[in-house]
Amino acid sequence: MTKNRSIDEINQKINDGEAHIYTAEEFKKLIKADDAPSFDEVDVVTAGTCGVMSGTAAILNFIVSEPGEFIRANEVYLNGVPAYAGPCPNEWLGSVDVILHGTAHSIHDENYGGGFLLKDLLEGNEIDVRVESADGKTIENTITMADVTRAQIVGARMAFKNYTAFTNPNNEEVASIFAAIPLEGNLRGLTFSGCGDLNPLQNDVPQNVIKEGRRVLLNGAQGYILGNGTRSSTEKPNLMLSADLTQMDPYYIGGFKTGQGGEVYDTVAIPIPVLNEEIYNNLLVTDDMVDIPVSDIKGRHLPLDNTDYGKLWADHDLRPRYDDSKCRACDKCVVEEICPTNAFSRGRLNLTYCFGCGMCANYCRNDAFDMNTGSVDLNINGKDVDVPIICRQSDRLRANKMSLKLKKMIQNKEFKL
Ligand code: SF4
Ligand code: SF4
Repeated sequence: MTKNRSIDEINQKINDGEAHIYTAEEFKKLIKADDAPSFDEVDVVTAGTCGVMSGTAAILNFIVSEPGEFIRANEVYLNGVPAYAGPCPNEWLGSVDVILHGTAHSIHDENYGGGFLLKDLLEGNEIDVRVESADGKTIENTITMADVTRAQIVGARMAFKNYTAFTNPNNEEVASIFAAIPLEGNLRGLTFSGCGDLNPLQNDVPQNVIKEGRRVLLNGAQGYILGNGTRSSTEKPNLMLSADLTQMDPYYIGGFKTGQGGEVYDTVAIPIPVLNEEIYNNLLVTDDMVDIPVSDIKGRHLPLDNTDYGKLWADHDLRPRYDDSKCRACDKCVVEEICPTNAFSRGRLNLTYCFGCGMCANYCRNDAFDMNTGSVDLNINGKDVDVPIICRQSDRLRANKMSLKLKKMIQNKEFKL
């Protein structure tokens, strides 16, 4: 007989302190140790993912001047990052509504963009604002989060799970959004995204429970699934999510430099209530079962070979170790230049900003950084090659931390299923 349980039954167990809740990381470790909890021994699994999510936009309202100073904004720049004025004109109110793209670049520095700006705002930093008004005035001011009266993130394409890994079999280097610097040719490195078996959509492929209206944690704030995202399909699903920006934790959101300028990363965690055996069986997926094609960074859609997340993540390090005794204080520090999240600056590694991408360990020629990001065996054009993994655009540490935060919130009855 098929086993079922209702959300009410799970909520009752949570209220009684008797619910069995695992993070995806905890659950997968038990599966890999051949000790998976049975259907009766698991009520909820919290799954998470963190990575570059280009569909991120913020809708903001803030005050820039006294009422009556200008009629309405035509152009708005925040730390030089252009935002779209409107949709509300706020005539003569001295405040502006804007829509800011996480992928927008500063007009002064293409490596600084919407993602870095949103982190700066959440960290309480002052933001320079310039408004060009419809009546020909320029208004310049600074704001902090305290001046923001309303701010909501809408992610048009989030928690994507079906990625492609890229390498460069060509002779010349290629710049793209898939690596922080141009990817060297002749198969010198591989870059990939995706949290494998931790991703919520990977744990509920038919979307039995991950659907419109369900609650999620987005960058630490409670939000909702608005529906599936843009370009989402059954084979390649993603989600449209929304939450209050002011409630977010800056640790989980930020900018990420790529070969094509600044991008934005986010962190998502979603609870999967184990309502029936089908939902339970879908949770048994492990990294080695999740394939990922490897393509030419230039051709993009033509796979050269395939690998899986078991090989890509294996037991590789999630964070680097920095040994300043090995640092030669080079005239131009390559790590400062390429670190996608600016975690290394003036000889100091800030692990709060670190994304665990692995670029520092792969590019500092003096081995000041130690981090094993592994390599994958591929067969490309009939030749066996071992290609080092040089850049990971997803962060399993943040995904695991937010899945754990969600688990604790459910246990503490701060997050309702
Ligand atoms: S490239 Fe490496 S050795 Fe040179 S300054 Fe940077 S961290 Fe130090
Ligand atoms: S792993 Fe290295 S390059 Fe990547 S974010 Fe951390 S410090 Fe920067």
